[in-house]
Amino acid sequence: MNYPVVIIGGGLAGLISGIELARGGIRVLLIERKSYPYHKVCGEYVSNEVLPYLKSLGLDPAALGAARISNFRFTSPKGSVLDTKLDLGGFGVSRYILDQALYRLALKAGVDFRLNTTVTKVDWLEEHFEINTADGGTYTSEIAIGAYGKRARLDRQLGRGFMEKESPYVGIKYHIRGDFPRNVIALHNFKNGYCGMSAIEDDKQCLCYLTERTNLRQAGSIPEMERNILSKNPHLEAIFSNAEFLYAKPEVINEISFAPKNCIENHLLMVGDSAGLITPLCGNGMAMAIRAGNMVAHEVKLYFQQHRSRSELEGTYRKSWQREFASRLLVGRAVQKVFGREVLSELALGFFRLAPPLLNVVIKGTHGKLMRLE
Ligand SMILES: Cc1cc2nc3c(=O)[nH]c(=O)nc-3n(C[C@H](O)[C@H](O)[C@H](O)COP(=O)(O)OP(=O)(O)OC[C@H]3O[C@@H](n4cnc5c(N)ncnc54)[C@H](O)[C@@H]3O)c2cc1C
Repeated sequence: MNYPVVIIGGGLAGLISGIELARGGIRVLLIERKSYPYHKVCGEYVSNEVLPYLKSLGLDPAALGAARISNFRFTSPKGSVLDTKLDLGGFGVSRYILDQALYRLALKAGVDFRLNTTVTKVDWLEEHFEINTADGGTYTSEIAIGAYGKRARLDRQLGRGFMEKESPYVGIKYHIRGDFPRNVIALHNFKNGYCGMSAIEDDKQCLCYLTERTNLRQAGSIPEMERNILSKNPHLEAIFSNAEFLYAKPEVINEISFAPKNCIENHLLMVGDSAGLITPLCGNGMAMAIRAGNMVAHEVKLYFQQHRSRSELEGTYRKSWQREFASRLLVGRAVQKVFGREVLSELALGFFRLAPPLLNVVIKGTHGKLMRLE
């Protein structure tokens, strides 16, 4: 089947670009490996930079039960605490609910979906793309958008350099209940990792941590690692001992790479994590994916409406992407070198205690301004 646009992956970046393109009158097919709703490893804290934009699309997070988050708590591996108010703040809502709500908006806008379908191969055949799926399907399109997240087999097929390197990180997520404030996002540091916790809908909290695989290897299992390594931070010890854990097993992902990537690969326009994953402690990857979905749809609409050339489309998309995201990714990588290190994060906490406004300067360096509405 032929479409003007095929989107590969239906997370935040893919769903937003699908909604925008379909509302712009462009026929679009979105191919997603899973079916909605489903859980995803993610801290589920969304920066307010995209709140007015989401509302303008017809999605009000408050109506989904999202928690409003205005304060930040930072703890060191030994348990020292720094509290500050967030300039912009954010909201907490599970990906289970958020992605499902966007999926409904996309259906309503007229996006065609192939769910439970994995894309295995994308080829650029000079004039168009040929896209193959695991169930034997073949689709062709003039434009293809890669919105398939952090890392997929497709990256290997596309010969992307970062796939050659093993990534040392593992991500683990739970939903929990307990007596925790609903307006605070906490970042609890531990040896070789950090754990975010913030409120989501239904009086639940999302607890999500990133750690180096060496911790898991050393401890032997996730529960042992949580008991013997994470719980050395007394705040995490209290959470793991007292909270009600709502999953039988955590959601786990491996091979999380923060290496630089290209935002265009063999003419495939990459968005969200496929173009570059910001380190999770910035709490901003979701807002970036939403912004990028909007950005790529804007450029593709101009390509069709103004009969632009492919090189013009790619040139303006690359420029906009670099302007919006390149420096945030750099700051995010630098910040991650400090946090999750026992001594360095203790020193950083002491430093920011002496000069609290500087913490907000660092946070600003990883965040964008409020998204402008068109
Ligand atoms: C541990 C951790 C914690 C995080 N915490 C936060 C946080 O608190 N706040 C925040 O803003 N960001 C956070 N992030 C980052 C955030 O999760 C991502 O930046 C965001 O999900 C990116 O959205 P996306 O649409 O690019 O990718 P995704 O949401 O990952 O969507 C990609 C989609 O593509 C599909 N797919 C993959 N391969 C294929 C294929 N071959 N064919 C078809 N479909 C495919 C997948 O099923 C998926 O639905 C965190 C990340 C990690 C690792």
